[in-house]
Amino acid sequence: MMTPEDPNTQIKQNAETAPDSSATRLWNKRTARLVPYVPGEQPRGQTFIKLNTNENPYPPSPEVLNALSNFNYEQVRLYPDPTGLSLRQAIAAYYGLTIDQIFAGNGSDEVLAMAFQAFFETVDGPAKPEQEIVFPDITYSFYPVYARLYDIPYRLVRLGDDFTLPVADCLAPSAGLVLANPNAPTGRAIDIAQIAELAAADRNRLILIDEAYIDFGGESAVALLPDFDNILIIQTCSKSRALAGMRLGYALGAPALIEALRRVRDSFNSYTLDSLAQAAGAAAFGAAEWFERTRSLIIQTREKTARALRDLGFVVIPSSANFLFVSHPKISGADLYSRLRQAGILVRHFNQPRIKDYLRITVGSDENMAELIRVLQRLLV
Ligand code: PMP
Repeated sequence: MMTPEDPNTQIKQNAETAPDSSATRLWNKRTARLVPYVPGEQPRGQTFIKLNTNENPYPPSPEVLNALSNFNYEQVRLYPDPTGLSLRQAIAAYYGLTIDQIFAGNGSDEVLAMAFQAFFETVDGPAKPEQEIVFPDITYSFYPVYARLYDIPYRLVRLGDDFTLPVADCLAPSAGLVLANPNAPTGRAIDIAQIAELAAADRNRLILIDEAYIDFGGESAVALLPDFDNILIIQTCSKSRALAGMRLGYALGAPALIEALRRVRDSFNSYTLDSLAQAAGAAAFGAAEWFERTRSLIIQTREKTARALRDLGFVVIPSSANFLFVSHPKISGADLYSRLRQAGILVRHFNQPRIKDYLRITVGSDENMAELIRVLQRLLV
């Protein structure tokens, strides 16, 4: 059965939106070769319980509301601060870092793209293993898209059957490592001792740690920054700070790594962060109480939901993120995805060989998850 996550459907959708015109002859070869990332559905019209893109079920903090309501609209007449200084100061204060260790950008997807461009090498012709970057076979599906966009050769390291990372396999020579911690879409985290081991193995290769979901239970590699200038951490305000619509991402690392990102950014657009987003982001980092309260609510709801799902016979991968990766022995992933959709619950299904029987379910509010469990009870009888 076809789902919106089915690569074939995606290609079809892309073909349908592609202009039916011979002007595609004007595309360069790389554009013609691209297979763009397809984000989770943002439905229009129909109301779903939306558990498909790992958004926060709670609103941003009152401090953010305050910053937005007090924002002087006349200010948008002017260009924003190209350095994002007040936001970077707020992030620096939160992490105990200096502002030259922080780069802020328009969503972590964009910061990731800049990092691929800044640190990894394009190779003409067949690449040697040490010229390839490495990431897991099951991880954030944007990584191979960036690699293809910039012609960066890559190879995949195969996760174990339980989706654990074989750290030893990541020690082999390579041009860089890209690891989501916790991993997406599995939710599994690695501990920072393992990241330290990988960073120490070759200080001439960059380890890019994508910590989009770190606030939901993982251990941040920020503690390793004093010892390793070859670790770059990328985080986002989209998940734990409930600002997905603002598009705010940031990188933490050695000043020279931050400078590299700035060089890339300032070679195509000096103003990637708008002034409203900067104000909201700075306020979000000052909202400690709201942040702690909402993230611990999400963690509690996750654990409660995981237990309820296990009681229904689901295999639930231990998650340190704001989503659960689950499968059920009696029903295929594609089937369950469409039955939930019919019942008004949107989750994410990836039609890839090793994970096609899994669903990634965002942790919503307690009420959302209670409804999910009720619907599943009904579907599974
Ligand atoms: N990294 C991972 C692992 C993600 O799942 C996402 C969300 N799709 C992102 C990065 C990007 O988040 P954003 O661009 O909203 O900051």
